[in-house]
Amino acid sequence: MTRTPRPYPYSTPHKAIVPPYLLARIAAIDDPRFDVAADAARRSLLRDAPMREWRREGEPPSFIAHERPARDERPAALPGMAPSPDRRISDAENAERLPGRLVRREGQPITGDAAVDAAYDGLGETFELFARVFGRDSIDGAGIPLEATVHYGDRYDNAFWDGERMVFGDGDGEVFRGFTNSLSVIGHELTHGVTERTAKLRYQGQSGALNEHISDVFGALVEQYGMGQDAASATWLIGEGVFTDLVEGRAIRSMKEPGTAYDDDVLGRDPQPDHFDRYIETDDDNGGVHLNSGIPNRAFALAAIELGGFAWEHVGRIWYDVLTSGRLRPDDGFHTFAAETVRAADERFGADSPESRAVTSGWSAVGIEELPALDPVPERAASDAGSTMPTWTSSSRGAGASPDFD
Ligand SMILES: [Zn+2]
Repeated sequence: MTRTPRPYPYSTPHKAIVPPYLLARIAAIDDPRFDVAADAARRSLLRDAPMREWRREGEPPSFIAHERPARDERPAALPGMAPSPDRRISDAENAERLPGRLVRREGQPITGDAAVDAAYDGLGETFELFARVFGRDSIDGAGIPLEATVHYGDRYDNAFWDGERMVFGDGDGEVFRGFTNSLSVIGHELTHGVTERTAKLRYQGQSGALNEHISDVFGALVEQYGMGQDAASATWLIGEGVFTDLVEGRAIRSMKEPGTAYDDDVLGRDPQPDHFDRYIETDDDNGGVHLNSGIPNRAFALAAIELGGFAWEHVGRIWYDVLTSGRLRPDDGFHTFAAETVRAADERFGADSPESRAVTSGWSAVGIEELPALDPVPERAASDAGSTMPTWTSSSRGAGASPDFD
């Protein structure tokens, strides 16, 4: 059977967790302790160059296999039926080919390969947050299989979402450990798939920073939900555990205190701004999508901390409402997005509710004020196919859950 080469499904680039400015920094290291890291980063940058070509020309680079394995067609979960994940983990065996060899499917026992098993568990935890808290059955709201490839490339220093699957490198071992070590990274990458199927925020400038922000929000919430952490005790870090001990840094980003995640002789200092006054105008990084995401990230974290309790029960729900409302446009910027979150808070919790006030004060603290008046709610269906599903409450966790969640 022949399959026609499939055009890359989205005009957006692949969305990687490690931004290009950090890779460039590592590539420039002239220190024997980091020879392997510098070499790996140089190769990652070279490897990403054809990706940029691809975005311009619409032709996939040669290292992306055209052929895709056939998908099972699964109907959407019926209302009242708890959804369960359908995970498929493949091993690229250190080549840069996708999808690689399928090594663990749903329900199969642990393999003993730490990256395979961490990806499997992380996909399960991400699925569980979206299903139980937000009533969403997988990325598309209709039970699409969750696919990931691990051991991608040789000491590859990144993790990315390519429009179909999550792809994880093992890291160079000097700066980065493997990227499956961080649950927030796994949740972040999967959330790019959710955004692509809902708000479709364009991966450039402010809308791109919001796209990154939404992935950080749900990446952090997956971790907090999995660990039962409230907003006050959460770390609000993205990518904790991906740096080796040689790096002076806690994580790739801090949502609560952008600009403080790392401060290292070699890597430099985390460049994320924490206030709209310090918004970074740049052509790099798709217009600074991994930089300026610090601004909405801090607004979210501050609102959650002001409210206390579990972030997924209030601000997380508000953000999910906005993401799936069908009201966002692909080019929306910070101020419109902020106004939508206030409107969603008003709708769900009531105007002048503590939730609405906390959201407003979170945005205000990062300099997003004087929010625009929004158009009245259009009478059109939300774009989100998962919105008909019931929601499972946190108290039902564990009861009747798939045995694969642990
Ligand atoms: Zn991302």
